[in-house]
Order: sequence, then structure tokens, then C-alpha cells
Amino acid sequence: MPSAKAEKGLKEESLARYSASVCRLCRRENLKLFLKGERCYTDKCAIERRNYPPGQHVQARPKFSAYSIQLREKQKVKRMYGLMENQFRRTFANAERAKGITGEALLVLLERRLDNVAYRLGFASSRADARMLVRHGHILVNGKRFTIPSYFVRAGDVVSVKEQRRQMGRIISALDGAQRRGVPEWAEVDREGFSGRIKILPTRSDITAPINEKLIVELYSK
Ligand code: SF4
Repeated sequence: MPSAKAEKGLKEESLARYSASVCRLCRRENLKLFLKGERCYTDKCAIERRNYPPGQHVQARPKFSAYSIQLREKQKVKRMYGLMENQFRRTFANAERAKGITGEALLVLLERRLDNVAYRLGFASSRADARMLVRHGHILVNGKRFTIPSYFVRAGDVVSVKEQRRQMGRIISALDGAQRRGVPEWAEVDREGFSGRIKILPTRSDITAPINEKLIVELYSK
């Protein structure tokens, strides 16, 4: 089980509020969480350089108990999508009410979040950046300003960048960088029009990150 010290300061963070380097989160989870945009694809990535847990003297990965493995899986996904614990819990509660397998529903709901969709469409180089664009009203859904990052997109929704913001350097460079990531099959992007359409809702098989969602369900079922 991770020490209290190791978890200190990491409990309720949102990426917007997390003051230490977010690369520590990747190193803690032993996985690239792609929290820093373009840097994540370069050899400056901290996990490429120092793939051991953060902490001055800690170079070996400790053995985890069953509980810790479940906890780490939850933390990993929570950090990947940049949520605080209460937001993640609420999404899990929504997934429990949804039809089908809870763990899969959880991942699909996370993927349908407007901030994630803006990131997947390439309007931002990271989910944290995408969240900021949404909060600042730069992202439209079906032509209307939407400032709620947790909005779940629906099939047929058109997500676009507000016309007055299309010259923003960070959006243009994010769109350029996104060509390397590619667009998920459930969406299509009109790069010239700074917009993307949700063709169909994502499914579990569209989420390729190494996630064992059953562990999260087990953790929350205790
Ligand atoms: Fe994670 Fe990106 Fe930092 Fe690499 S550069 S450790 S992927 S946040």
C-alpha cells in the first residue's frame, strides 16, 4: 500500500490545481498519462527518462496488496481524465445506473465528457487544456456555448471552436499535433471548420489505454 507520504497532496487534485509537476503522476502510475501535451511525445517525457516512482531515494517499485492494486488503477484513470475524487465518484454512480457492465459504462462516460472530446478532436493538446477551453467558453456544442466540461456528448453532436477563437496559437498547434494522435473512429473532424461530429457513441473497445476497469468496480464495491 502506498505510504501516506506518497499519497500526500495527491488526494483531491484536479490538474488545474495540482501544483507539483504532473509528470510525477505518470511516474507514480508507471504509465504515460499524456498530461503535458506535446512534451509527452518527446524524449523530454519524464517517464522515458526516470521510470521509477517519484521520491528522492525510491527507485524500486514496491509490491502492492490487492487493495493497493485496485486503488492504483482508480487513481490512474482518475488522473488520466484529470478528475477529482468526488467527480470520479459521481461518474461511477452514473455508470452504476447505466445499462450494461458498470466498469465499461464508467470508461464510456469518461470518454464522452466534453473536455475529453475536445481533446480527442484535437482542439487541445491535453485534457487539462481542453477543460480550460470549455470553461472559458471557447467550445460550442451544436453551435451553442457550453462551459461544463462534464457534459456527456451524444451521437450526432457537433463540437466546434468558437469562431473568434480559431486563431489562437495553442488551438492551431494542438490541431497540428493531434494529427499524430489520430482521431477516434467514433468521431470525424473538419479541421478547416474547427469542428468535429460525434458519429456514434464510443464503446469500451475504442478505449485503448491499458485500463482494468474491473479493479475500480471492485474497489468501490467494498
Ligand atoms: Fe506523463 Fe507527459 Fe510528463 Fe511524460 S511528459 S511523464 S507522459 S505528463
